[in-house]
Amino acid sequence: MGEEKNQVGDLPLADEYPEPCVDNELKGEEKRDISAITEDITGDKAEKCSPNLLEMLKAAESRRSSQDRDKDRPEANKVGTKENIAEALKTNMQIQFNDEKQEFNKRPNKTTHRSMPRSTSQSSTDSLSSVSNESSEDELSPQNKEQKNSKGFSDFCIKNIKQADFGRKEIEIAQQEMPALMILRKRTGGEKPLAGANVVGCTHITAQTAVLIETLSALGAQCRWSACNIFSTQNAVAAALAEGGISVFAWKGESEDDFWWCIDQCVAADRWQPNLILDDGGDMTHWIYKKHPALFKKLKGIVEESVTGVYRLYQLSKKGKLCIPTMNVNDSVIKQKFDNLYCCKESIVDGLKRTTDVMIGGKQVVVCGYGEVGKGSCASLKALGAIVYVTEVDPICALQACMDGFRVITLTEIIRQVDMVITCTGNKNIVGREHFDKMKSGCIVCNMGHSNTEIDLTSLQTTELKWQRVRPHVDHIIWPDGKRVILLAEGRLLNLSCSTVPSFVLSITATTQALALIELYNAPDGRYKQDIYLLPKKMDEYVASLHLPTFDAHLTELTDDQAKYLGINKYGPFKPNYYRY
Ligand code: NAD
Repeated sequence: MGEEKNQVGDLPLADEYPEPCVDNELKGEEKRDISAITEDITGDKAEKCSPNLLEMLKAAESRRSSQDRDKDRPEANKVGTKENIAEALKTNMQIQFNDEKQEFNKRPNKTTHRSMPRSTSQSSTDSLSSVSNESSEDELSPQNKEQKNSKGFSDFCIKNIKQADFGRKEIEIAQQEMPALMILRKRTGGEKPLAGANVVGCTHITAQTAVLIETLSALGAQCRWSACNIFSTQNAVAAALAEGGISVFAWKGESEDDFWWCIDQCVAADRWQPNLILDDGGDMTHWIYKKHPALFKKLKGIVEESVTGVYRLYQLSKKGKLCIPTMNVNDSVIKQKFDNLYCCKESIVDGLKRTTDVMIGGKQVVVCGYGEVGKGSCASLKALGAIVYVTEVDPICALQACMDGFRVITLTEIIRQVDMVITCTGNKNIVGREHFDKMKSGCIVCNMGHSNTEIDLTSLQTTELKWQRVRPHVDHIIWPDGKRVILLAEGRLLNLSCSTVPSFVLSITATTQALALIELYNAPDGRYKQDIYLLPKKMDEYVASLHLPTFDAHLTELTDDQAKYLGINKYGPFKPNYYRY
């Protein structure tokens, strides 16, 4: 998800591990694109963004699809030839792999499938109810329980292994919306590009992450996993992973001690040492630095997904403490332009409705920040008929908001009349007491941006204000004159706390993470230095292309003449690195 997590900011971090930069200082930091490195190595501009990973995937695909297509043509069964790779590249452009076609044809009709809301699926409901019942059923801490899966495997610590069947249903639902990872499993065939890779992960443990973890396993990796957030673990999903033989250490509602204990269980295993880290927030990296620094000798790289984690990596790098290559997934085009935008566009209204049952049409809403998250949120609210105002500090984003039809105004000017205030800035103290005091009664306040910093809650913790919990994640703050302001999720991320996020969007990020791990693991010595890299554009394009068949999209192929005219390879990358989309 690549998102700031509520807990990370709250957990104690050692002094020498830098806090995330909040002043944008590092935003201008030079980020090196690995395509440049690949270009240096190959000296071949045309192929500069096709590291061995892409070639391997395409060659594997080419072998199978040409075997499928050309069973009658023995000469077509030669493997690994330049022709086959070229053909695979071409076929990739056309998004017409035979097995993909079969895969998508097997699914229910497209409209039904894509319109099926995850939250109302039967197994999802079952699972949620099982999860909500579990605390009364079983108060014993997982650390005090001895559990085994049906095969006698016990190297895990989760809430309740008996929930594995529910979790498996959740994972299967997620798989349907995560086509690229499923294609990746098939496309590598028997190649196992992660054979020998020991991946230690610290991410949200949800059905979508489970699809990623099981994909990594299918590609040959041995995985050990903990949660990056003490509340977000889906216990049933963790149970399904454990039942499948994954060493997972996580449960919903961990204490802070549990949180670090789980991380340590992943790292300090008998006869197992990680050689890759997949982190979301930097806590796993931090723990290894602090407690097991010797492990860095074996590590081939870190893949980091969150803003916070990436900032921390840049700070380590600045201090000369970054001793292995790292991939910054957070800033890849394919993550920023999809996760931040579409994830919020699809989930903000869901979060508002689940918590408040509010009608959106006709409501006056102010959205603070018109970046990717703000744009997605505004689009969604506008679509339901809300009257949307935007606050911005950046004239470019402000102009975009104006030209998209939103009134740009300051919060102080508009605060008295709005029904909702939504923060999306990534900044701190956007809504303070001076704003709360002016809000009308019934105003809803929530955050879609950074962690829990955007709304100044401290200013509301005064004796004259009464807090009343009216529902999970819904607090009424009551003023002495009876005015009530409705605060959602205690100022933490509304969609992550109170809603679900679309598996399809997560699929894009998860595929990028998987490719980054494969690339780091398979890269020849010396390709990556002790630095922070972005995935090359070619890989972003590849991830996008893997998702296009879902929409039955047909790409146009450049003619040789057109490609020459544009000065690019006809199979990509199609844009220069500075292109902004
Ligand atoms: P962004 O940088 O594209 O947009 C943030 C915008 O806020 C910028 O245009 C900036 O000029 C503006 N801004 C900053 N300070 C402001 C202020 N005081 N008043 C008004 N506007 C201000 O970032 P983004 O991709 O939109 O992400 C924003 C935040 O949302 C980040 O913290 C990100 O981690 C988080 N995020 C949340 C989700 C989610 O699911 N809720 C998903 C992705 C990212």
